[in-house]
Amino acid sequence: MKFHTEYLTLHTKSRHAYVHLTPQVETILKKSGIKDGMILVSAMHITAGVYVNDNESGLIEDIEQWLEKLAPANPNYQHHQTGEDNGDAHLKSMIVHHQVIVPVTSGKLDFGPWQRIFYAEFDGQRDKRVIVKVMGE
Ligand code: ZN
Repeated sequence: MKFHTEYLTLHTKSRHAYVHLTPQVETILKKSGIKDGMILVSAMHITAGVYVNDNESGLIEDIEQWLEKLAPANPNYQHHQTGEDNGDAHLKSMIVHHQVIVPVTSGKLDFGPWQRIFYAEFDGQRDKRVIVKVMGE
C-alpha cells in the first residue's frame, strides 16, 4: 500500500462558491502513480464542504438555494455571540459534509458518467485548504 498526499489552496472571490475539483484531483492521481485504491478529498475547514454530484450550473444554483433554505444566513445564531458571523456556514458544511472517498481503478477515478468532485465554500474570500490523499498500489 502506497500513500500520496497533496494540498490544494482555494481562495474564492465570493463568500459562497462551488469549485469543480475533478481535474485537479485527476492530476494528483496521475502524479501518484497509484492504479488501484481510493482517494480521500477532504476540506480542512468547518465552514466548507466537499461533495460528489453533477457539474451542471442549474443544479449548482438549486443546491445554493436549498442550503440557504435549510441553514439561512441569520444574525441570531448563538455562535455569533463569540464575535463571529458565519453560523450559517458551519451548518451548511454539516449538511454537505466535509469529505468524500472516490474509488480508483486502472489509474482512473472510477466514477459513474455524471459524477464530479466539488468543493463548496460557505465563508470564503480567504485561503482555505483541501487535503487530497491517494491510497493504494
Ligand atoms: Zn464560526
